[in-house]
Amino acid sequence: MEGFNNFLKSLFLLELLKGMRLTGRRLFSRKITVQYPEEKTPQSNRFRGLHALRRYPNGEERCIACKLCEAVCPALAITIEAEEREDGTRRTTRYDIDLFKCIYCGFCEESCPVDSIVETRVYEYAFENRGENIMTKDMLLAVGDRHEQQIAADRQQDARFR
Ligand code: SF4
Ligand code: SF4
Repeated sequence: MEGFNNFLKSLFLLELLKGMRLTGRRLFSRKITVQYPEEKTPQSNRFRGLHALRRYPNGEERCIACKLCEAVCPALAITIEAEEREDGTRRTTRYDIDLFKCIYCGFCEESCPVDSIVETRVYEYAFENRGENIMTKDMLLAVGDRHEQQIAADRQQDARFR
């Protein structure tokens, strides 16, 4: 009986007609396809993209080289070296993130006591040469400087819901 039903379906092209009915329905409905890169989907203020190191408004870097982020990173993507300054404060001399190892879990920013290492909304980046996957301290600070306004606004919005 099932074979006979299948024969009838094939004979009258029922599956094809069902497909065309669906196509017809969608033809005039509201389009939801996003034409990237001209159009972009909305982003959460908690989006976890490219990393950045932040500074205080007076230009001093926030990071105190406590190495919590390095310890918590499950991918071992962060490498920190530090030394004491003349004024007795600790600062990093090296802060690298290997973006090939990073799994964008956000643990580093969660663990940071001074809100220094953060993940920005930036996701449009690519590498062309070997070694470009390593974000150095200077590169991370530069990303932070470029996006500080957005980073601060995102954190403020986040704080309202805590
Ligand atoms: S986002 Fe996760 S994996 Fe990437 S550096 Fe931070 S802690 Fe490590
Ligand atoms: S970024 Fe934050 S958690 Fe990492 S070493 Fe600096 S102060 Fe510590």
